[in-house]
Amino acid sequence: MEVAPASSAATLSRMRILVTVKFVPDLQSQRSFTDGAVTRTGDDGTMNELDENAVEAALQLKEAAGEGEVYALTVGGDDAVAAVRKALQLGVDHAIHVSDAGVAGSDVFGTAKVIAAAVRKVHEEDPLDLVITGMAALDGLTSMLPTALAAELGWSQLTLASGLTVEGGAASIVRHLPDAHETVSAPLPAVVSVTDEANTPRYPNFKLIMAARSKPVATWTLEDLGVDPSSVGAGAARTVVVDASPRPPRENRVTVTDTGEGGVALADFLIERGLA
Ligand SMILES: Cc1cc2nc3c(=O)[nH]c(=O)nc-3n(C[C@H](O)[C@H](O)[C@H](O)COP(=O)(O)OP(=O)(O)OC[C@H]3O[C@@H](n4cnc5c(N)ncnc54)[C@H](O)[C@@H]3O)c2cc1C
Repeated sequence: MEVAPASSAATLSRMRILVTVKFVPDLQSQRSFTDGAVTRTGDDGTMNELDENAVEAALQLKEAAGEGEVYALTVGGDDAVAAVRKALQLGVDHAIHVSDAGVAGSDVFGTAKVIAAAVRKVHEEDPLDLVITGMAALDGLTSMLPTALAAELGWSQLTLASGLTVEGGAASIVRHLPDAHETVSAPLPAVVSVTDEANTPRYPNFKLIMAARSKPVATWTLEDLGVDPSSVGAGAARTVVVDASPRPPRENRVTVTDTGEGGVALADFLIERGLA
């Protein structure tokens, strides 16, 4: 079976795409919790790594079309602006940060409602062709946001794309399943989540890093979006985090100091336990 190239826009002459980028704690940092929720601060936060694939897919589609705009959108506290700043460094045209105390404590439904309202605001000014998301946020890891967002918008949805093409008013994706490659198509506008197989994200170059510093970031509140605060946030969450705590360190660890016999010690360890 032929697999579609990472991203290509064959017939559209102007692609308008919004990419969702989440601000998450850096995977390399020590995770901590505040009142049962992941602590998210600017000190060790960054744009969700898997959202780099979403940004790359959007930029490739715009470049293939030759014209268009790419928006990056994040919903989160003050520090979350770092996520859209990173997207600007990668080359997106516009950045939007939805920041409002009323959003704190939102579950996936509340988050989707807020993102959908922001998408609609952009779409109403000038229609979007696509919303592209990452396959998962590396802190929440529900992978539910894209589906909840498509449902809120009433748009088509294509999930876990390893390849994405746009042609004739439709988006087509390739999904790599364990025993097959599936090609699925949907009319625009659509919500597409892309996997880390979709492309190789670019590195920001010096020129873009400098340019990103002076690019404006639009900051929107729930009021700007016409979202009723009582419909989102902790009070409206349909899920409750009952408990969250750091995983206790693993017990019965054996550390072998390799002084030239490390391979033998490892083999003995596996044989003793019947693992080799
Ligand atoms: C009761 C409860 C309270 C919570 N309180 C908070 C809180 O106070 N603060 C908080 O940050 N989280 C909070 N969360 C977690 C939050 O609801 C989820 O992170 C959010 O719904 C998205 O789910 P996810 O992280 O699993 O994203 P996934 O569905 O795994 O993400 C898929 C993709 O969606 C996009 N995406 C997801 N979230 C965002 C976002 N916020 N902005 C832009 N793009 C996004 C990204 O492109 C991402 O790759 C809470 C969850 C629960 C259940």
